[in-house]
Amino acid sequence: MIVDCHVHTYRWPEHRDREVVLRNLPSLARNWPEEKFISLYDAPIERYMSENMEGDGIDKAILVGVQSPKTNGVHVPNKYLADLVAKYPDKLAWCCDVIPTEEGAAEEVERCVKEWGAIGVGELVTTTQCFYPNDERCYPVWEKAQELGVPIVIHCSPEQGHSLPMKYGDPVLLDDVAIAFPELKIVICHLGYYKYEDAVFLLEKHEHVYADLAWLSQISGLDRTRMSSKYPPVLVPYFHWYYPILLYLSGTWGLRDKLIWGSDWPWSSPRNGIELLTNINEYLRKDNLPEIPQEIIHNILHENWKKVFKINGVED
Ligand SMILES: [Zn+2]
Repeated sequence: MIVDCHVHTYRWPEHRDREVVLRNLPSLARNWPEEKFISLYDAPIERYMSENMEGDGIDKAILVGVQSPKTNGVHVPNKYLADLVAKYPDKLAWCCDVIPTEEGAAEEVERCVKEWGAIGVGELVTTTQCFYPNDERCYPVWEKAQELGVPIVIHCSPEQGHSLPMKYGDPVLLDDVAIAFPELKIVICHLGYYKYEDAVFLLEKHEHVYADLAWLSQISGLDRTRMSSKYPPVLVPYFHWYYPILLYLSGTWGLRDKLIWGSDWPWSSPRNGIELLTNINEYLRKDNLPEIPQEIIHNILHENWKKVFKINGVED
């Protein structure tokens, strides 16, 4: 059973503050036709389902929230995600999102998990939500997640937006969280992105720290789904995709079953991501790199998510 553990869904204009969005875009965006905004910021889950879940596609998708109203102008209400899951319970599960430094965040997590069926907390994004994960104002949220037995799904690496402070995007900050909350499951999104060496070390060091591979196929240049021609060509594709995975598998301390698969749709193509991972050894052979045992690849797609998420109605 393939579970896409990292899926976004949001609507335009309901979930975005147009003024904040325009502030982050070049000034000529003020003249963009409405269709352009729709192509960028409208991602209905029905489109994901029809493109990726029919036939031999993905069996389940875990929706993760997006809440960064001040920096990116986006706010997807938790109730919106809960209602989608209630509408498509066989296909979807969800994680609630909060800004963990805000008053009442732990209570919101409890409500979402107990009343609305959330199975995790995320996608927390340290750079767009502007917090250090080891800031003690976040600790009630981490404590609540640990108590409820749900993982936090956290993007703790830099992002390109010019106003997003890099200082918040250091995965090493998660070390303090894993030490203070030893039973809390932590999923490091995108395997730490270009800070993958630190992320891999955390996976080796802490029993309950995991990572997803979401977005890596796109950022590596192997999936051009969301790249317009204005992006420079990636001269050395693969680097942000198979080097992090190989480093993880070559470490000596940790377990070998802590990578889970997600797409980060709509930012990358789920089908393309599955195909790349399934055929990763073809790429490795081409570059004279060691191959990955088929069982490990299979488990990334089909098995490892079970250690992180408990999906209602799905047996271990
Ligand atoms: Zn994401």
